[in-house]
Amino acid sequence: MSVATTCVKRAFKYRFYPTDAQAAELSRTFGCVRKVYNLALAARTEAWARQERINYNATSAMLTAWKKTGELAFLNDVSSVPLQQCLRHLQTAFSNFFAKRARYPRFKSRKKSRRSAEYTSSGFRFRAGGLTLAKMNEPLDVVWSRPLPEGVSPSTVTVSQDGAGRWFVSLLCEDPAVKRLAATGSAVGIDVGLDHLLTQSTGEKIANPRHERKDRALLAKAQRSLSRKAKGDGSNRVKARRKVAKIHARITDRRRDHLHKLTTRLVRDNQTIVIEDLTVRNMVKNRKLARAISDAAWSDFRSMLEYKAAWYGREVIAVDRFFPSSKLCSHCGTLQGTMPLNVRTWTCDCGTTHDRDVNAARNLLAAGLAVTVCGAGVRPQRSSPGGQSATKQKTPRREP
Ligand SMILES: [Zn+2]
Repeated sequence: MSVATTCVKRAFKYRFYPTDAQAAELSRTFGCVRKVYNLALAARTEAWARQERINYNATSAMLTAWKKTGELAFLNDVSSVPLQQCLRHLQTAFSNFFAKRARYPRFKSRKKSRRSAEYTSSGFRFRAGGLTLAKMNEPLDVVWSRPLPEGVSPSTVTVSQDGAGRWFVSLLCEDPAVKRLAATGSAVGIDVGLDHLLTQSTGEKIANPRHERKDRALLAKAQRSLSRKAKGDGSNRVKARRKVAKIHARITDRRRDHLHKLTTRLVRDNQTIVIEDLTVRNMVKNRKLARAISDAAWSDFRSMLEYKAAWYGREVIAVDRFFPSSKLCSHCGTLQGTMPLNVRTWTCDCGTTHDRDVNAARNLLAAGLAVTVCGAGVRPQRSSPGGQSATKQKTPRREP
């Protein structure tokens, strides 16, 4: 992650209330975005099977051709800007896949995927505090819950609707108000825990949000209730589904709020922050860990940490995910043979007793600092019992 030298880009998110016509237009746009994304993904997957790669430009040309067919002429009814943007997103998804940072891109589903559309500057007008999207006559009724910085104008606008039916608009702006902080010498390593959300190398443990457990119990109850409703039982099923979505939305809001406070504090207090480079693949493999911090929470945490670090002139280092941070004694450097997940404290042969998570966080910190000093990556430990499968996992997967 490069550190921004001039202004930093910052997203400002607001709720808005569309008119019926605007809601219909946006729903149509979401549908077209999904359609175009899936068509392009199918085309790229076919090419991938032939050992070919299709780039963004090729999919953009395909989009032009699709619009001319009778079957897909409806794509002309919505603004072309979000359709182009979703092809760019797909390009990013493939770049991440080729760089082994992510899984093979998946198709967007009507029910499960995020409903959103991204507009670049040619797709919206921002004047006198009013935001009007392409193909719309009146500005959106936005609740400006906090002011945009004086004199800024957004470069990108993302409209979305969550599972509870709420509409949001996110404005990406250059924020001149964000100033770099004075450098500090302190560095911290952060481990994702089981009992705790995060553990710092300083020994401080950060719990999950207070409401998380209660909300999760409520969610489980609402989900059971939904699954009991018969398929034919229309209105009750809709009500039950809406209830599930509402609880989901509340959990997400509270978690993001918690992560915002946490990442701001970590970035303010530390010059260097070392985290583990957990990937979705690795998280799924370790189901217990996946429960403790969901994939979504982890990627939110990491991206918040990275963009805030860029704002304030701090550094985030991600250490290789095959680094055996739990098995290594942070005092003497001896590698333990096995370290089952239920072992919370252990004593090394050198006589040091470790809290599992604090020890892991300390190892991450040491490894991260070594990276900054040498400029070299931390290599996976092939001699460890897990080394074999880890190596195997690194080969790219061919199937979609
Ligand atoms: Zn030791």
